[in-house]
Amino acid sequence: MVPGVRLVVLGKQGAGKGTQCVRLSHHYVVPHVSTGDMLRAAVKLGTPLGLRAQEFMDRGDLLSDGLIMEMVGERLSESDTRARGFILDGCPRTTAQAEQLEELLHPDRLDLVVDLEVPTALAMRRLASRRVCIDCGENYSVSNPPTVNWTCDICGGEVVQRADDTEAAILHRLDLYERQTAPLIAWYEKKGQLTRINGAGSAVVVERRAVRVVEEARQRRHPSGDLWDHR
Ligand code: ADP
Repeated sequence: MVPGVRLVVLGKQGAGKGTQCVRLSHHYVVPHVSTGDMLRAAVKLGTPLGLRAQEFMDRGDLLSDGLIMEMVGERLSESDTRARGFILDGCPRTTAQAEQLEELLHPDRLDLVVDLEVPTALAMRRLASRRVCIDCGENYSVSNPPTVNWTCDICGGEVVQRADDTEAAILHRLDLYERQTAPLIAWYEKKGQLTRINGAGSAVVVERRAVRVVEEARQRRHPSGDLWDHR
């Protein structure tokens, strides 16, 4: 059995974060914890959180650190993530969130933070053709649609263009990413927790790169080859 992992994946919108996180969660058999998916589910259900989140999301604005970390804290305290770990997607997005995440996990720590690097022009092209399942969040694109009539291959949900994938909201999110999220890369780098990988190429090729850097990080921490921690 593959040991679990506690992994954060960073990358600008369109870097392929969602796609890689789903693949890595299957590879390591750990939950994919996506703040965007959790918030979209809350909006769809019309919960109090969803009602508060919707206008922020439609504009491409960030929700408050407190609200996000409460949601993430709850998810990371459940038995599945505690037992085997998680692939965290969309959080942290600010240094304050990264600090709170560290506190949440203490005395454990992240195994690695992977930064998926892609040129902005490629990210914009991917976003323009991106389509997602409104139920499970599976990613498709105009050139890689589901098999049957925009119905999700995994869960049968409807596959649509995201409401916040308009040009204005995308540009705003990319700008926020540069200002608020990119500084996290230096923050994690200073802690020796970050590895950058090239996010250009097919999903399979990028996944292999990610798995390789995770395995290298395991080796650095446990050169004897023993499994790490309790997982
Ligand atoms: P993207 O990476 O394309 O911006 P996500 O699906 O990760 O999309 O997030 C969608 C929206 O949900 C964000 O634009 C923001 O409004 C909100 N959101 C998600 N994660 C966070 C977070 N960690 N902090 C603040 N807001 C968040």
